Amino acid sequence: MQLKIYNSLTAEKEIFKPILDGNVGMYVCGPTVYSNVHLGNVRTFLSFDFIYRSLMHLGYKVRYVRNITDAGHLTDDGNVDNDRFVKQTRLEKLEPMEIVQKYTVDFHKVLEMFNLLPPNIEPTATGHIVEQIELTQKLIERGFAYESNGSVYFDVLEYNKRGLNYGELSKRNIEELFANTRDLDGQGEKKNPQDFALWKKASPAHIMRWNSPWGEGFPGWHLECTAMSTKYLGETFDIHGGGMDLKFPHHECEIAQGKACNDAAPVNYWMHANMLTMNSQRMSKSTGNYILPMQLVTGDNDFFEKPFHPTIVRFCFLQAHYRSVLDISNDAMMASEKGFVRLMEAVKVLNAITPNDEKQSGFSLAEWKNKCYEALTDDFNSPILIAHLFEAVKYIFALNDDKETVSTQDLEDLKTTLNAFIFDVLGLQAVEENNNEKLDQTLKVLIELRNQARKSKNFELSDQIRDKLLAEGIELKDGRDGTSYVLN
Ligand code: AMP
Ligand code: ZN
Repeated sequence: MQLKIYNSLTAEKEIFKPILDGNVGMYVCGPTVYSNVHLGNVRTFLSFDFIYRSLMHLGYKVRYVRNITDAGHLTDDGNVDNDRFVKQTRLEKLEPMEIVQKYTVDFHKVLEMFNLLPPNIEPTATGHIVEQIELTQKLIERGFAYESNGSVYFDVLEYNKRGLNYGELSKRNIEELFANTRDLDGQGEKKNPQDFALWKKASPAHIMRWNSPWGEGFPGWHLECTAMSTKYLGETFDIHGGGMDLKFPHHECEIAQGKACNDAAPVNYWMHANMLTMNSQRMSKSTGNYILPMQLVTGDNDFFEKPFHPTIVRFCFLQAHYRSVLDISNDAMMASEKGFVRLMEAVKVLNAITPNDEKQSGFSLAEWKNKCYEALTDDFNSPILIAHLFEAVKYIFALNDDKETVSTQDLEDLKTTLNAFIFDVLGLQAVEENNNEKLDQTLKVLIELRNQARKSKNFELSDQIRDKLLAEGIELKDGRDGTSYVLN
């Protein structure tokens, strides 16, 4: 079965042909480690974890590179003095590298919680300053970049004059860009407002700075990904991924830098994961419309009615295709939990099934497997794959009720395939005996008893319930809509 991947560059599903047969080089833009990752960020990284797992399951040897942006990521307004790291160091009264370390550790912890596999290489921007300076020099030598007042900019107009096409990924028309862009960053320094920084001169307030041929400064955000991806995967590599919002300008700039440096497109397949929304709005730190992963897992939030195990969150995410928007809600999480419990129950039941070789079955294992692989190879269609897994679940329960039959060989095959899809490809984890659900029910009983005690003015008992639970790390919170709990 041939693997098809939707390529954002051509806006088509294409048959995947790796550069080196059987091998895949994949680069995914990592986090900017100046604060905690929110659940939206997790969705993008989880989408690519599923793609990484799928590629390996399909037999590819993958080199997966995901960077850490620990320098040079300006704010959206492009003002150097609003650099995210600089701002956070002031706020937290920490050294820049303390900020970097703190949030890198947090990032790893969060991804581990959701059972994401680590990439093969996790390079940092600060660890590749030399490479970024070299690339900048090369771009100047080739006439694609110019120095201005200690900063170096990429010359977008020059790039287009040479027949290259800035805007090819985001499908933006260059003339439109020239007409509509205001010069916010590097006022007066650039030839054209859409020229982007390869190297920025450090202002006195800028603590993270390095020596360069153009004086003290720091690298531009777009350049780091070109430096690190091509260093570890080659001048042209197979897959580049990231969230949809990175298409422009970040990935557009990466294409321009790659082509200008090496006369070749840097990436064969561009993959973009869609956004997680909450209240139908994109999850984002800047608007305040976000939830931290730990808040969902502990229940310390006002949005979900109870805490959810990380694997349920993972399952919920994978029930949407990576290219579709997913709106996270209490109902979606509750439905995912229900589905997950049934899936796990089927895995358990399957282990106790005995084969019956004599009778014919109405379920064709070969056909079912085929459909599963069709879904997986059709641009990593996880929701369709999961729907097929539930056909097997139905069959397993029918087997358990002696309403269906299975041969010895098929039974072994079903076990192997189902386990591989659930645990290796989807990356779900078996939650012990659905403890979560039992704990939830038990706590609801205790909350009810405490309410009754309070009503009958038995405050000694109601306080005792609250304090004893707190001693066990369970905090009761009284709100307008009743009492909820937080697992600390
Ligand atoms: P950042 O640390 O801001 O560079 O973001 C890290 C990754 O999270 C990028 O690939 C973004 O595209 C992605 N991202 C940001 N917000 C969301 C969201 N609401 N849903 C999904 N991915 C997101
Ligand atoms: Zn990047």
